[in-house]
Amino acid sequence: MKYWLYLLAKLAAAAGAVCLLQFALVYFYPEPPPPLPRFGPPPPLFLHDMLFTFATLGVWLIGAGLFSVILSDHRRRCRTCLRRLIMPINSGSWGHMVIFGRPRTELICPFGHGTLSIEELQITGRQMADWQPHDDNIWKELESYNQARR
Ligand SMILES: [Zn+2]
Repeated sequence: MKYWLYLLAKLAAAAGAVCLLQFALVYFYPEPPPPLPRFGPPPPLFLHDMLFTFATLGVWLIGAGLFSVILSDHRRRCRTCLRRLIMPINSGSWGHMVIFGRPRTELICPFGHGTLSIEELQITGRQMADWQPHDDNIWKELESYNQARR
């Protein structure tokens, strides 16, 4: 729940920043001279003033870039403590997929809350990253590996 609330908070902050930028653009953009009264009310700036339209496009591009950065950052965060996942390990092989498995990258939480496995091979559509939470007692997991080796 905390994970999704943090994403919503980041998206709301980015939306607020983009709206503020758009309001600043509208507020500080110089007014063009009004047309003669016989031509009716002045048209809106968007799509009638090229510089204003491109500036609005720039604000939209900044918003889309922020959205993309937020999503890519949030995918690589721990689901429990929200810290960035570290220590990427590549496993599998592109050339020897049958022997070593499909290529993927695994990242872990610095406090051991879980492992994120990201598939590099996307054949059947986009596959979501797989989050595996760890047990609270990391020694139990290490002992199970040790007992499996005996
Ligand atoms: Zn964590």
